Parts: sequence; structure tokens; C-alpha cells
Amino acid sequence: MGRKYPVVDIGKCTLCGGCIEVAPMVFRYNEGLNFIEVVDLDKYPEKEVNEAIKNCPVDCIEWEEDK
Ligand code: SF4
Repeated sequence: MGRKYPVVDIGKCTLCGGCIEVAPMVFRYNEGLNFIEVVDLDKYPEKEVNEAIKNCPVDCIEWEEDK
């Protein structure tokens, strides 16, 4: 199985900050470039990321997996 990681569709993201509240270890606001970035981790906490996915008001976070 490949590595599983969350991705943010920055075209849809409204920068509401909800994902950062729920999973600050995973999502971070990039002030210089003005978008939400996913922190580079070896393994992502499934529960927190799922919570962020569930709470994102515009449904722009999803899991992807390396093949
Ligand atoms: S919760 Fe969704 S819309 Fe809000 S900042 Fe995170 S990715 Fe963007």
C-alpha cells in the first residue's frame, strides 16, 4: 500500500481556518503565498484528517494515495 496523504484543493479553499483548528499538526497557513499547505509528514493522523475533511465547509480536502 502506498503512502496516504491529504490534499487541499486551493482553488476551492476559502481560508476559513477550520482544518487548522482541527488538525494543526497537518494543515498550516502559508502567509507568504496565502494558501493552506499540508505539512510534510511520514504518516498523517487519520482521525484528525478525517475530522478536518468532515468539517471543511467547501469539501476541498481529500485523501490521496501514492501508487
Ligand atoms: S477547512 Fe477547508 S476551506 Fe477551510 S481552510 Fe481548511 S481547506 Fe480551506
